[in-house]
Amino acid sequence: MLIIFTGNGKGKTTAALGQAVRIMGRGKKALIVQCIKGPWKSGEDFFRETFDIPKETFNIRKMGLGFVGILGDTLPKEKHIEAAKSALATFKEALESNKWDLIVLDEVNVAVSLGLLTVDEVLKVAENIPEEKLVVFTGRGAPQEFIDKADLATEMREIKHPFADGKKAKISIEF
Ligand code: ATP
Ligand code: MG
Repeated sequence: MLIIFTGNGKGKTTAALGQAVRIMGRGKKALIVQCIKGPWKSGEDFFRETFDIPKETFNIRKMGLGFVGILGDTLPKEKHIEAAKSALATFKEALESNKWDLIVLDEVNVAVSLGLLTVDEVLKVAENIPEEKLVVFTGRGAPQEFIDKADLATEMREIKHPFADGKKAKISIEF
C-alpha cells in the first residue's frame, strides 16, 4: 500500500510518524528514510534512544544535506542529487530486505520537484510494494504520477500557521 501526504499545510511528516507509532503499537517495524533533511536534529530523532527502542524496530535515517538552493546553501546541486539517490537506494534496500512493515520516504515529493530525483526512478523502486507492506511518501507538491499510483493520498492545506505572523519555528512543535 502506498500513502501520500502532501500539501502546503503542516502535518505531513508528523502524520507519517504517527503512522509509524500506530504500526509499532501492533508489534511491527517502522523505518523512516529522509531526503533533504539533515544534519539538524528534530524531536523524533531522539525518540528511539530516549525510550530505548531497538534500531531494528524503529529507525530514522537522515540522508539529506539540508536546504537545497536556499537559506545559505553553498553545496553544488550534484551533492544534493547524490544524497537523494543514496536515500532512494536505502529505501529500495529496506523494501527488498523484508525487515520493515512501514517505510517512510520523507520529503521525496520535494526531492522530485527540486529535480534531485525523477518521478520514474522513484516509481521504479516503488513498483512492487508487497500487499502487507506500507510505504509513505511525504512532501509538498506530490507529482500526479505518485497520486495516481497511491492507494491513499491526503493533502494538508494551510489554514493558519504562526510562521505567517513572523513567529519562529518552535522546539517540540516544528522540530
Ligand atoms: P511537520 O514536520 O511539522 O509535520 P510538514 O512535514 O508538513 O511539517 P514540511 O513541508 O516538511 O512540513 O516543512 C517542514 C517545516 O516547516 C516544519 O518545521 C513545519 O512545521 C514547517 N511548516 C509546515 N507547514 C508550514 C507552513 N504552511 N508555513 C510555515 N511553516 C510550515
Ligand atoms: Mg515534512
